[in-house]
Amino acid sequence: MQNTPILPPSMLGILGGGQLGRMFTVAAKTMGYRVTVLDPDPNAPAAEFADRHLCAAFDDEAALNELAECAAVTTEFENVNADAMRFLARHTNVSPSGDCVAIAQNRIQEKAWIRKAGLQTAPYQAVCKLEDISDKSTEYLPGILKTATLGYDGKGQIRVKTLGELKAAFAAHGGVDCVLEKMVDLRGEISVIVCRLNSGSVQTFDPAENIHENGILAYSIVPARLPQDIQQQARQMAQRLADELDYVGVLAVEMFVVGDTNELVVNEIAPRPHNSGHHTIDACAASQFQQQVRIMCNLPPADTRLLSACCMANILGDVWQEDGGEPDWLPLQNDGASFLHLYGKKAARKGRKMGHFVTLAHDADSAFAKSADLHGKL
Ligand code: ATP
Ligand code: MG
Repeated sequence: MQNTPILPPSMLGILGGGQLGRMFTVAAKTMGYRVTVLDPDPNAPAAEFADRHLCAAFDDEAALNELAECAAVTTEFENVNADAMRFLARHTNVSPSGDCVAIAQNRIQEKAWIRKAGLQTAPYQAVCKLEDISDKSTEYLPGILKTATLGYDGKGQIRVKTLGELKAAFAAHGGVDCVLEKMVDLRGEISVIVCRLNSGSVQTFDPAENIHENGILAYSIVPARLPQDIQQQARQMAQRLADELDYVGVLAVEMFVVGDTNELVVNEIAPRPHNSGHHTIDACAASQFQQQVRIMCNLPPADTRLLSACCMANILGDVWQEDGGEPDWLPLQNDGASFLHLYGKKAARKGRKMGHFVTLAHDADSAFAKSADLHGKL
């Protein structure tokens, strides 16, 4: 649409009102903008801070028409209907583009783009029908059969060792499009968040080192405990991918660190701020959410500098008591270098992301140690 800066108090719109939408809304409100959130959940975490909550389905025509009145629209999740985004783009500024969101929704397309940017993925093959499974598939075993769409937090994944297991896994996924990915010699996982307005205006945050528990992100440690040259390479790779997609907005690029040589392999991308970038609120010059606001408003991304080593710890519903009683917040709240963020979700279910906290420290090792200790006291 237009390339002129969008200034406060313009109304900004967001598809999705979960925790990412909530932190976006807080950032936008602080910067003087107004916010309209579209989310079918009457208790959507972002609604508490938004000026307007359109409580409707994501493809609700009336709601989309109202959202189209906003000066600019963005999204907090990739499983939004790309067609809804393309519809909005005919009326207002939309970032990221529906095309980029559609790519991130589908692992087969996503991997093709990663390769097109000249970057490595784990060896893989698309499995869309039973006949795609042949003797050649053994090249990718042992591997993981992942559904091409709608996977998150390790859901939609089955580990397979033999052709028989592969066929059974394909059937268990219901015969939907899948990718078979060879297991790589994983030494660690990192992610890089890119903030891109155009080819001349792009910034990357320091890579975060990600530690998962039960397939869910548990801790992000920054700076990542990897050699400087590998970190630099990770930033360049993420930027190259954003350039290849001509991406506008905040893009998270997840990478595997493979083998003795720390080879970087791109796992997947998320066309939005990312859980592994939550520390940017407390530990960086500008947060990933401020960057999202800035870019959708045609403003160049701000300084991404890391101001302190830190560790972000996710708080899952698991730490609530059986009867719904709150965790013991006191040790965390008493620590002057830790910052609690709660998402205002009503029901604490196992595995549900309820909040996070960021602990600042002198170096990454001590931030992680202290964070794990405080988490254990919840
Ligand atoms: P999330 O929502 O956390 O990003 P997801 O459902 O999108 O999860 P992936 O990121 O594809 O799933 O994989 C989940 C985890 O499984 C990875 O973070 C990694 O630990 C492991 N994993 C995935 N693919 C491979 C692989 N090819 N080799 C080794 N480990 C893998
Ligand atoms: Mg992932």
